[in-house]
Amino acid sequence: SPTPLTLLGTGDMGSALGRAWLAAGHPLTVWNRTPSRTEPLAALGAVVASTAAEAVAANRLVVACLLDDDSVGAALDGADLAGRDLVNLTTGTPGEGRSRAAWARERGARFLDAGIMAVPPMIGVPDSGAYVLYSGSRDLFAEHRATLAVPAGARYVGEDPGFAALHDVALLSAMSGMFAGVLHAFALVRHEEVAPRDFAALLVDWLTAMAGSAHTTAEQIETGDYGKGVVSNLAMQSAGNATLLRTAEEQRVSPELLTPYMELMARRVAAGHGGEDVAGMVELLDRR
Ligand code: NDP
Repeated sequence: SPTPLTLLGTGDMGSALGRAWLAAGHPLTVWNRTPSRTEPLAALGAVVASTAAEAVAANRLVVACLLDDDSVGAALDGADLAGRDLVNLTTGTPGEGRSRAAWARERGARFLDAGIMAVPPMIGVPDSGAYVLYSGSRDLFAEHRATLAVPAGARYVGEDPGFAALHDVALLSAMSGMFAGVLHAFALVRHEEVAPRDFAALLVDWLTAMAGSAHTTAEQIETGDYGKGVVSNLAMQSAGNATLLRTAEEQRVSPELLTPYMELMARRVAAGHGGEDVAGMVELLDRR
């Protein structure tokens, strides 16, 4: 029979997770700082606890989906975690994941940190592509895998409790670059006779075609050989940036989302790496 569990936090994401567990028949106890936000889940059959401590006491498996790491500490302050399996679906940094794991261990709980790679409408929808990255206690993951996989795919990335956040934030950071590029592209065309919807179709095809370059980047970073299999060398790309900047000027668009990347490229070329690929620029980002 489906494992009963506790959910702390019924915001947009927590509520989506809760609906998925209820729909799959899992008995669910919920708590939220603002009680009114638990009403939709209560209407679907969730038991509402009046304090976080009471919610934690109700089930061995406890899932937290709160705003940030501070809110996890605030919510669980005073709850008895001994013997609990705490799964933290709150977005945080790798460092926060590691200290939250130590904090949970001190209180006698097994701990998994997690990073949700989805937006709420994708949760509980088969084939939506939604998944959650988990790291920390391998035993906890193995034991509760089926329950954790109800709202979204479950991917375990290692025992280091910082790894889920590390992978999550690395993916989100890549997404930021993509969103910045997409915004700049729309800014260039939007006052022209270009239908945004038609342009979007071109953008998606182009970005999809380019995304595979990450595999080449991986090989070059693995070997440290940034000159291997170069298709578009840095010197050529850096020279091409002038065209991108002049076009921005012609279209009266601020280049501010592009220039930091271009400046880094110019520095790498100036340091004598013009024949290499962009992957070598990672050396300029390294602050170790
Ligand atoms: P919401 O803003 O909708 O909900 C935030 C939740 O945190 C609420 O339950 C809120 O309670 C609670 N909260 C905030 N501060 C405190 C506190 N000091 N003590 C106790 N509870 C607190 O956010 P989401 O549900 O969308 O996000 C939750 C987590 O999921 C975040 O870490 C977010 O990064 C992550 N996530 C969200 C995605 C999204 O697209 N929404 C995508 C991927 C991850 P109250 O109702 O009382 O304010």
